[in-house]
Amino acid sequence: MILIDGKKAAAELRQELKHEVISLKAKYNKVPGLTVILIGDLTPSQIYVRNKEKSANEVGLKSEVIKYPDSVNEKTVLEKIEELNKDKSVSGILVQLPLPKHIDKQKVIETILPSKDVDGFHPMNVGNLSLGYESSVPCTPLGCYLLIKKIEPNLNGKKAVIVGRSNLNGKPMMQLLLKENCTVTITHSKTKDLKAECLEADIIVAAVGIPELVKGDWVKKGTIVIDVGINKTDKGIVGDVDFDEVSKNAKALTPVPGGVGPMTIACLLKNTIECFKRTQI
Ligand code: NAD
Repeated sequence: MILIDGKKAAAELRQELKHEVISLKAKYNKVPGLTVILIGDLTPSQIYVRNKEKSANEVGLKSEVIKYPDSVNEKTVLEKIEELNKDKSVSGILVQLPLPKHIDKQKVIETILPSKDVDGFHPMNVGNLSLGYESSVPCTPLGCYLLIKKIEPNLNGKKAVIVGRSNLNGKPMMQLLLKENCTVTITHSKTKDLKAECLEADIIVAAVGIPELVKGDWVKKGTIVIDVGINKTDKGIVGDVDFDEVSKNAKALTPVPGGVGPMTIACLLKNTIECFKRTQI
């Protein structure tokens, strides 16, 4: 079984991006800039944002974090986004989720210019992705896609089963695999026989949020299994896939942690660079 090393893949991607930033700087005399807005003091959000900033600096991007307290009003945040939309030194804007209840997430997402939407959450980018046009793609499914392509460059005709239909993971994952000519089944909490669906798959992407949901006997021999889940349990952080069982059947499997997670941040940097390039023409 191939253990898909997301840390190594992310380090390689960051290295590529670092070289790209050097050549962009030589060509345009400026570097892409990423601005993150962080609201409140949730510990996981603070950790994510710190890691994003560290990785952005590592590849040579200009990076800035704007912090607001939990009590900030929606208008202040929306006005700041409008200001960043106009700022030519800002290539990408990310508002760290989740947001406090009094701030409308969708309004925030739709205020970010689609061309600076490094998360790929704006309806314009969601639509463009589904139409097969150029767009920002949400970072986690993009990371999963790049890992799958490393194992299997030609996905033509492969049967892919995605477990979970969230806007963040399942749905964009479906679009990416469809574009690669996979036959895609997207499953969810109302799916009648999840095991039978998974047993058909050449590729399984699990993005559910239920610890070790996907069992060994749900996976036929030779399947590529990508585990997006991050679940806190008594035995530590585990994914949505029962790693020990599934590793006996899978051709390749991502561990948790150290699989999809590191690729998510590397893809955010990739998206920032893509946003920059699209505005330099
Ligand atoms: P979500 O809660 O938005 O969506 C979960 C989906 O799973 C829903 O579509 C739901 O229908 C489906 N589902 C629920 N129970 C099911 C069941 N029994 N069978 C089949 N489908 C079922 O979750 P999300 O935001 O997509 O996140 C999923 C997981 O991925 C979480 O553990 C989250 O922490 C993790 N995550 C990881 C990364 C990363 O970088 N690795 C990024 C984002 C999310």
